[in-house]
Amino acid sequence: MKIDFIITVDRSMMTNHHGYEFVGFMTTAPPVGLPEHIWNWISMPRVKVDRYGRPVEAPYGLRKIEAALQDAGFKAYIIDPDYIGKYIDDAKAILIGHHDYFALGPPSSEWYIITHKEPVNARSFRRFMESKDMKRAREKGLKFIVGGPAAWQWLWRPELIEKWKIDTIVDGEAERIIVKLAERILDGSDLPLYIYIGVDDTPTIDEIPVIKGASVNGLVEIMRGCPRGCKFCSVTLRPLRHIPLEKIIQEIEVNALYGVKGVILHSEDVMLYGSDGVIPREEPLLKLHREVVRRAESMAWSHVSLAAVKCAEERYNLISKIMDIIFNKQDYIGVEVGIETGSRRLARLTMPAKAAPYDISRWPEIVEDAFRIMSENRIIPAATLIVGLPGETEEDIIETIELVDRLHSYPSLIVPMYFVPMGYYKDKEWFKKARLEDSLRELGMVCLKHDLYWADWILTRYYIRPNLRNPSIYILKYLLKFIIRTYRRLSKIDKWETVKVYT
Ligand code: SF4
Repeated sequence: MKIDFIITVDRSMMTNHHGYEFVGFMTTAPPVGLPEHIWNWISMPRVKVDRYGRPVEAPYGLRKIEAALQDAGFKAYIIDPDYIGKYIDDAKAILIGHHDYFALGPPSSEWYIITHKEPVNARSFRRFMESKDMKRAREKGLKFIVGGPAAWQWLWRPELIEKWKIDTIVDGEAERIIVKLAERILDGSDLPLYIYIGVDDTPTIDEIPVIKGASVNGLVEIMRGCPRGCKFCSVTLRPLRHIPLEKIIQEIEVNALYGVKGVILHSEDVMLYGSDGVIPREEPLLKLHREVVRRAESMAWSHVSLAAVKCAEERYNLISKIMDIIFNKQDYIGVEVGIETGSRRLARLTMPAKAAPYDISRWPEIVEDAFRIMSENRIIPAATLIVGLPGETEEDIIETIELVDRLHSYPSLIVPMYFVPMGYYKDKEWFKKARLEDSLRELGMVCLKHDLYWADWILTRYYIRPNLRNPSIYILKYLLKFIIRTYRRLSKIDKWETVKVYT
């Protein structure tokens, strides 16, 4: 098979984490309590490939680039990193996409700051870029295009752009631009070093192609963009687009064809699928879920906003109605949500539309109401807090601690993440200099206690069921149990105080 464009990435991304998305979080940390090769075996196993080295499951973003190039007539395929050597002699370019090339994004950067050790995703990417095959590709003069959500990180590693001979960095949604770049590569034209994709070059719904092969764990995009406009978020700079249901179903069917039967609906806010603004609409959401549940063995959501959860349930009982559909197949659903802060003042400053259609001054109350609604409907949120937002004071952190305390009745995980302005990375020593102030340390401890309590509860009830095909999952389970036991021993907690669960 001749390939002009090899689309690939290192093992920390080219993996299905044994079918458990949450195991993927282990790739954002340095190895803890285990040798690195065992940590990697648990968190980033090799994926199945066909006889050409094409992975059966591959990251969704790479699948979109592959589809855009194939639809435009190019010989472009996703190739597993262990097999790229077969194609280097004939190929013209290697295209790489990543979520976190250098472990500078959340939550990798938190682990970096706390442990002062490099997370395994960055180690894996460096090994890949220094591998024999990649060195040979550089010697042969192949072009290197890098992109994906972490494209910005290259701007803070200029020495590596030079060392690894990166030709172009593509920052933004690349389906349209990548076709133009591929034409230039085949023509032998010059390539720009950095492309920022603004609104004018963002692909329209019609230009977003249907994937040709399966995505990792059945991830399927249902929306792009977000209308809320939080000041610290780049998603908000992109126009809002809803993927038509027919395209979503086509992608679910592509995944099923390759044996991937679960579905993860991806959107910055699944509850806003088919809406005109920030008010969820009943009809498109119910139709979407009926169609997905009819085809999938299991399903999950990537993200929902807390305001939309509250609004959907209070206006239309919509969360209960959707969960009635989902419970035909499974008994819980996991999802990421953003709390970001418990401070009304800071919320108003940094994310004034996050609570819409409610007033942002009610933010902590909205968070609590949404957590109660999710708990009553067996939705388990993994929530983020952003600490170190510009203008954050001690009082803001104390309000956040108080909110986390009030959320302790609800099965959930709450993870504080550092706000790190990209400019800080000009100073490479920043990680070493970062200090945990007392209030932040207290917030971290409150979240840790919350998370270990509920991790124990969730592990026992839901997530890790016996699965002889995945022995590594048993190791993960016992590692987590060990961490929980150690925490309880050090904190002198003989028995978790019983929390009334709202279900
Ligand atoms: S709600 Fe989430 S995705 Fe939307 S702008 Fe805010 S942080 Fe970004």
